[in-house]
Amino acid sequence: MSVLLLDPILPTAPVLVPEPWLHLLLSPGARVFAFLWGLLWGSFTNVVIHRTVVNVQALLKGETPTFSDGEKREFWKGRSRCPHCEHAIASYDNIPVLSFLWLRGKCRHCKTPLSLRYLIVELLGGLLSFALFMQQVYVPLLEGAAPNIAGWLLLLLFGLTLLSVTYIDLDVFIIPNVLVWIVAGVGLVAAFVDPEALNVPWQHGIAAAVGGFGLFGLIHLYYIKVRGLDGLGLGDAHLLLMVGVWLGPLGLAFTVFAGAIQGLLVSVPMLLRNKPIANADVEELHGADPSLGTVDPDDLRMQRVPFGPFLALAAMEFVLLRRMIEELLTWWTGGAL
Ligand SMILES: [Zn+2]
Repeated sequence: MSVLLLDPILPTAPVLVPEPWLHLLLSPGARVFAFLWGLLWGSFTNVVIHRTVVNVQALLKGETPTFSDGEKREFWKGRSRCPHCEHAIASYDNIPVLSFLWLRGKCRHCKTPLSLRYLIVELLGGLLSFALFMQQVYVPLLEGAAPNIAGWLLLLLFGLTLLSVTYIDLDVFIIPNVLVWIVAGVGLVAAFVDPEALNVPWQHGIAAAVGGFGLFGLIHLYYIKVRGLDGLGLGDAHLLLMVGVWLGPLGLAFTVFAGAIQGLLVSVPMLLRNKPIANADVEELHGADPSLGTVDPDDLRMQRVPFGPFLALAAMEFVLLRRMIEELLTWWTGGAL
C-alpha cells in the first residue's frame, strides 16, 4: 500500500519530463485515476463479452439476435438490458462496481441476481490498468526514464481483449476473429507510429504473427487430416497471430509454452474429477458436426478443452512479468538472447 498512498517519492535519477507533468504523473491521484479508468473499460469489456456471446449463440442457431419484444440486438448501439427481464439499465445503475454493490448484485426491476462475473471483469480491468500504469509510467519515472503513456493505454486494450477472448471462448467455444484481427491491426499501427510504445519492432511482430498463425494452423490441419477431428480450432491460430504482433517472437514462444503447461495443470485435474472447464457443451452449441469429432467421457485425450483462456492468461503473464522473464532467459542462455 505504501506505493499507492505514500507521497512524495521522487525519482532517483534526472528525468527529462517537465516538472508539472512529473508531479502529476507521480501523484496518488494519477494512480487512482489509472484504476478508475480501468474500471470504466472493464465495464465496456463486459458489454463486448455479453453481446458477442449472445450474437454467436443466435447465429449458431441460424437466428437473428433479437430481444423478446422483437427489437433487433445491435452490437454497437442500444442500451444494455438486464439479461433476465430485458429492462433497459439506467445510466445511474451502470456505474462500475458501485452500482453492483448498491443494487446488491441484483437487477433493480426483476431482482434476479446478476452474474458475479460483471463485477470480476470490472475489477480486473481496474487492477490491470493500475498495474500497467505502475509498470509503464510510474516505475520508469522513478528510474529516471521517460514515461510510456502510450504503452500503458495500448497494453490495457491488449489485456482487456485477452479477457474478452477468455470469457467468450469459455462460453461459446469461439474466438472472435474480427475482434483479434482489429486489435492485431492496432498493435501493428502502434509499432509503426511509436516503436517505443510496445517495445516490439514491427518486423519482429509480423514474423511472430506469421509463425504463431502458421504453427497452430498446421496443428489444426494435422488434427483434421490425420486424426479426423477438429481438435484444435483455428481460433487459437488467430489469437496467436494477435499475440505475435503485440509481444514479438519471445512473447509468442512464452505464450505457447506457458499456456500449454498451465492448460494441462488446470484441465487434467478438472477432467479427472469430471468438472467441466467451459460454460457450455460443444454439441449443444455447434450441433452434431462430425468434423468436431466425438467426445469420449472415459478417455482423457478425447475431451474438449478451450485453449484460448490459457493462451490469453500466459500472454498477460508475459506482459506483466516481461522484464523478469527476459532477465531469466538472458541468465539461462548466458547472454545469448
Ligand atoms: Zn431484470
